[in-house]
Amino acid sequence: MRIVILGAGTGGLTLANRLARLIADELERSRAEIVLVERRKDHDYQPGYLMASFGVRPLAHYRRSVRPLVHRRVRLIEDDVRKVDLDGRRLRGETETAYDLLIVATGSVPDFRLIPGLDAEDVRRPDAGFGTFYTAEGAEALARTLEAFERGRIAVVVASPVHKCPAAPTEFALLLDDLLRSAGRRRRVEIVYTSPLDQLNLLEALDAWARPEFHRRGIEALFSFVPVRADVARRRLFAKDGRTLEADLIVVVPPHRGADVVRNSGLGDEAGFLPTDPETLAVAGRDDVYAVGDATDLAFPVLKAGAIAHFQAVVLAQNLAHRLRNVPTPYRYDGRFLCFVDDGFASSAFIRYDRHHPPRTATTGGLVHAIRQAYHELYWLGVRGLL
Ligand SMILES: Cc1cc2nc3c(=O)[nH]c(=O)nc-3n(C[C@H](O)[C@H](O)[C@H](O)COP(=O)(O)OP(=O)(O)OC[C@H]3O[C@@H](n4cnc5c(N)ncnc54)[C@H](O)[C@@H]3O)c2cc1C
Repeated sequence: MRIVILGAGTGGLTLANRLARLIADELERSRAEIVLVERRKDHDYQPGYLMASFGVRPLAHYRRSVRPLVHRRVRLIEDDVRKVDLDGRRLRGETETAYDLLIVATGSVPDFRLIPGLDAEDVRRPDAGFGTFYTAEGAEALARTLEAFERGRIAVVVASPVHKCPAAPTEFALLLDDLLRSAGRRRRVEIVYTSPLDQLNLLEALDAWARPEFHRRGIEALFSFVPVRADVARRRLFAKDGRTLEADLIVVVPPHRGADVVRNSGLGDEAGFLPTDPETLAVAGRDDVYAVGDATDLAFPVLKAGAIAHFQAVVLAQNLAHRLRNVPTPYRYDGRFLCFVDDGFASSAFIRYDRHHPPRTATTGGLVHAIRQAYHELYWLGVRGLL
């Protein structure tokens, strides 16, 4: 049986490497094959973009070559897949890759063009008045902008609830406050945060945790602010309800969509996300296609997060091993999520939940922060299937 995983991001790598250990015998005897198809040579630990945007460490610290992260019994093919041919059971790119079972792990993409007037180039130029920490290039440019930002107004704009990592924008605002305070510039810089919702964050527990901090630190919050147009030259954003936001620097968390290959293959919904069973991770109407991570259409409380891609990959690897052996597949993804949230450069909180346990924010402090710092490095063991 040939199991092909499309995308060597957090979910795809974790799945390929864990499965390789679970079916070592079958791989050894050539009864099964695992193929991982990825277009990039490098893998980014994306939470590192947040740190890189504050110049904590250079982007290179959070980037590694894909090859050494892949188990020796997994075949890695470098290819930019243009189409999934469901009837012919093959991926079409520079080469053709046939499969018996396909797992789509192509992630999600920040799409600045979903805010008319804005494009990805605008947030890469430090002088443009717009910035982002949601792309590698954006994070590097933002670090330079923030270092030189002496006075004025910075807006952190969450354009849509559909974006990677529910916590990152809230963290960004709190870290920005911390950075400016320690640099002695906070009194000269106003911070405003906009949310498309009537709370700071999709997660109520996170909203309840962050709100008093925003208040205490003088971070202004604007709710139900849905940007519909940008005027880059005048550094303005216009909201659906007629409000206008003006700032010297507008840091954008753009709406996200699914990978082009999903849309080009007629596999996903309008936004390019795959209709996926929340427990088995099978793609609707197919018994030979699964999806993990950001590529799925699963919505709150299943969010677009590396932790979720990881937990889904753990479950699916076990079920695929069972399926290969023709025994029932008993494992179900239980909606598990956990996440660290920094409220400063020396303090973090921790949030976790699953379908049976509602989210609660754990104690905030230096110890949790130390664990988070360690996790930034442990991630590499996670994607290698060792954690
Ligand atoms: C600033 C920031 C902070 C974050 N912080 C956190 C956090 O604290 N905690 C957390 O849990 N998550 C966090 N995340 C989110 C996390 O990084 C993603 O949710 C996670 O990487 C999703 O994993 P994935 O495998 O679904 O997709 P990805 O890791 O994005 O991988 C998708 C892969 O598919 C490949 N691919 C796509 N299309 C093709 C194609 N046509 N052909 C070949 N290959 C293709 C891509 O190149 C990529 O390697 C953060 C993200 C950002 C941007």
